[in-house]
Amino acid sequence: MTNPSLLILAGDGIGPEVMDQVKRIITWYGDKRDLAFDVSEDLVGGAAYDKHGVPLHDDTMAKAQAVDAVLLGAVGGPAYDDLDFSVKPERGLLRLRKEMDLFANLRPAQCFDALADFSSLKKELVAGLDIMIVRELTSGVYFGEPRGIHIEDNMRVGINTQRYTEAEIERGARAAFEMAMKRNKKLCSMEKANVMESGILWRDVVTEVHADYPEVELSHMYADNGAMQLVRAPKQFDVIYTDNLFGDILSDCAAMLTGSLGMLPSASLGAPMANGRPKAMYEPVHGSAPDITGQSKANPIACILSFAMALRYSFDQGDEAARLEAAIEKVLADGARTGDLMGPEGGKPLSTTEMGDAILAALDASL
Ligand code: NAD
Repeated sequence: MTNPSLLILAGDGIGPEVMDQVKRIITWYGDKRDLAFDVSEDLVGGAAYDKHGVPLHDDTMAKAQAVDAVLLGAVGGPAYDDLDFSVKPERGLLRLRKEMDLFANLRPAQCFDALADFSSLKKELVAGLDIMIVRELTSGVYFGEPRGIHIEDNMRVGINTQRYTEAEIERGARAAFEMAMKRNKKLCSMEKANVMESGILWRDVVTEVHADYPEVELSHMYADNGAMQLVRAPKQFDVIYTDNLFGDILSDCAAMLTGSLGMLPSASLGAPMANGRPKAMYEPVHGSAPDITGQSKANPIACILSFAMALRYSFDQGDEAARLEAAIEKVLADGARTGDLMGPEGGKPLSTTEMGDAILAALDASL
């Protein structure tokens, strides 16, 4: 049997630094759990621009289409800020998402007990929090036509169009129901059916798809109320399914309930490939953090948790994903902290590599 394949695109800034720690974890799984991956690496973002003059070479795109999963670090940085829009580092990322048709963006908001004090909410509201937001990623108001700015009656008018087909709503809904089945079987769909026709269609289609998942408890909520509930009592949610625009906002809001940007993973999934695995790209939510690049200060946990998501959602290794998450929980409970996780009590922060060392030691201890 051939090993599952991974394409690593470490990118720019702290991307390669945090990805180095992920590579150590991948090696650990091969050595200690008989779970080896065929790993290849390539360039994306500014690093690809420097070599090829484009933020994603066609050959890299072809490799991304051929592997079982892509792991991405981060793209961008001040050196590329003045580039033409068409070759900016972010275009590489958008091309990957678009051509792989990654329509379901999974953004977990999980609060490790040891970090509950970092939340802007009271500790008891967030300790143990574990929400998954499934955001539709390839349609809606960010893509709908007509769009643009034009003149009407001597006045500028800005236009964007919220447009969803039932097929687009349905495929995302199926991803969300499948997610709920793997978790606590509760799904809350959020839209604005009170004021938007696309919201009425959204609610209808999600309700229709529910017939195929009778075990899942489905609720509907207006997205504005959803925002309120997320900061009032976030633990009421298990899986949330929402559109591109509301998902953009609600997932950032939910994410910050949990503290640091250095802790947040994400996955973007598409349709199943011939081998049954979904097209998939896993990446931390944070950017390339130019302010700390090259100083070994970056927290590698968001990127490592993104690999844990790959284990669970691409490779059906839920137990091994849980092992990795438990190792991270353990090192945090033992007080290991990178600079971004330092509280007012101070202390000496761990370097990126030292945090990797601690997680590997906790993995060894789990055997
Ligand atoms: P950023 O996420 O890079 O950094 C925001 C702040 O969080 C910085 O102070 C940074 O030091 C800190 N931070 C981020 N990740 C951290 C980590 N793992 N450990 C410790 N601290 C961490 O966002 P920004 O500063 O707005 O953007 C910087 C560059 O990254 C820009 O070029 C932007 O376009 C790009 N960007 C890329 C992505 C991506 O690749 N997906 C996402 C956001 C921003």
